[in-house]
Amino acid sequence: MAYLLMFVTLLHLITLAMQFIATMEKSWWVWDVLENSDLWYNCRFDNSTGTWLCASSKETEWLKAVQVLMVLSVVFSSVSFLVFLGQLFTMSKGGLFYFTGLCQVFSGLNAFSAALIYTLHNKAILPDSRELTSGHFGYCFILAWVCVPLLLCSGVIYIHLRTTSKMIPLALPKGTDKLCELCQREARLQCTECRVTYYCDEEHQQADWVGIHERICQLLAPIRTPTLYSLQWAGRIETQLKKAELIEICRLVAQSKLSEGKHQEALPAAQFCLHCSIDLHGPSTVQMVPAYLLLAEANMGLGNLARVAELLSQAEWAVLKSPECGHAVRHRLHRSLGRLHTATGNLEAALLNFADDIYFASEEYGLDSTVTCGGYFLMADVFTKQGKMPIARSLYSQVAHTWHCHLTKLLKTHVQNVQNPDMLLESSYDKAQLVEVDEMLKTMLEFEQNDFRKDSTQVALVAHCLAMLWFLGGDSLKALGFGSTALQASQLIPNHDLTEPIQGLLQLVQNLQTESHPV
Ligand SMILES: [Zn+2]
Ligand SMILES: [Zn+2]
Repeated sequence: MAYLLMFVTLLHLITLAMQFIATMEKSWWVWDVLENSDLWYNCRFDNSTGTWLCASSKETEWLKAVQVLMVLSVVFSSVSFLVFLGQLFTMSKGGLFYFTGLCQVFSGLNAFSAALIYTLHNKAILPDSRELTSGHFGYCFILAWVCVPLLLCSGVIYIHLRTTSKMIPLALPKGTDKLCELCQREARLQCTECRVTYYCDEEHQQADWVGIHERICQLLAPIRTPTLYSLQWAGRIETQLKKAELIEICRLVAQSKLSEGKHQEALPAAQFCLHCSIDLHGPSTVQMVPAYLLLAEANMGLGNLARVAELLSQAEWAVLKSPECGHAVRHRLHRSLGRLHTATGNLEAALLNFADDIYFASEEYGLDSTVTCGGYFLMADVFTKQGKMPIARSLYSQVAHTWHCHLTKLLKTHVQNVQNPDMLLESSYDKAQLVEVDEMLKTMLEFEQNDFRKDSTQVALVAHCLAMLWFLGGDSLKALGFGSTALQASQLIPNHDLTEPIQGLLQLVQNLQTESHPV
């Protein structure tokens, strides 16, 4: 970036000089060593006095056109250079590089027209009395042609600079304490919007911009710029509140990116959340744990298990040091630890952690909560890996029952709300959550269908869950598919008490379809 700026400045200056020379100097046309013509005069070298004797050129229409175009070209190029300099020093926001680029391109087009006219109509421009074959084009004419591609090139570079002008090179000597926001290496770039955030290269700048900076750029300047007020007590309190607000924003952004499966994009937000939490609460405090867990989850998704282990042990240490730490935090910590141990193949440790996870979750949310049964599901996964199918099966059935109760309740409220449109809520699950639950239930359905015992009650239960889930999620095709699977399974069992609710659900879906596609 810095080199590009230097290069384009140099290019612009050289081109400008060439344009001046081409416009003002003698010899667009050379008759012989002693006589030549430029845009303004015909000159002859007088040997006796050793000076040039010049007379104004005869002003034909074509010559006037060339003169005007060349002057315009110089003017545009100069204006664009001044604007560029102004932009560099004030570094104001907006599309000024764009303006510079367009000016430069326009100047190039003017020079092109001038040179083209001179090439095609030199007969009309030069004095009639002379025979053209006795002369040739001079160096100013060649310079004018050379200017054309240079002007166009620098114009394009300016327009390109404009698109990447979210940052400027740091005019700081080496060894200053500006560090990259993402990797903490020495920084070379600065965010032009807030001017308080630094990066080692464009890649990190771009990653941070997409990940979180776009959302918090405007909020950072008042926090990171110390003023007299911010050093006083009231100012400090205000800064602390702003930091807490920032942490919350970053936490939400990281969370939503994680639930969309964008682990790489979630990293900057999670990392910022961590740094800001350390800043606000100090290291190894329990307030740090959510940030550690977010960062660990992002790294888990990327497969950096060593980093996950490191982060989780820091979180564990912070929790150990604070006995007042809440159940919700402990539940999330143990779930993450369990996932880590599952991934590294340490299945016994994973089971212990999931057991703790379930304990703390049930203390916080209740035993029959869907949050708690997430732990059962993960545990069942470990038992499947160990080949302990009966335990896995009973855990899965526990999970299926919990979700069945939960979804039945949701469906009931949904149907009531449909009858009473004022109460109609938005879909109770967002897309990412839907997909997550869908994956979990489908794993269980496959497990049951591949099981040698073929427990139809269980298949009907899980398929009914999936049908309700997708009905609530607004996908009636999937709801119909899982609904009919559930119905088939339940009809294998005489007097099965699920048959009626499943038929009711299928009826609901069909009503919905005929409503949206009237025959
Ligand atoms: Zn970096
Ligand atoms: Zn910024």
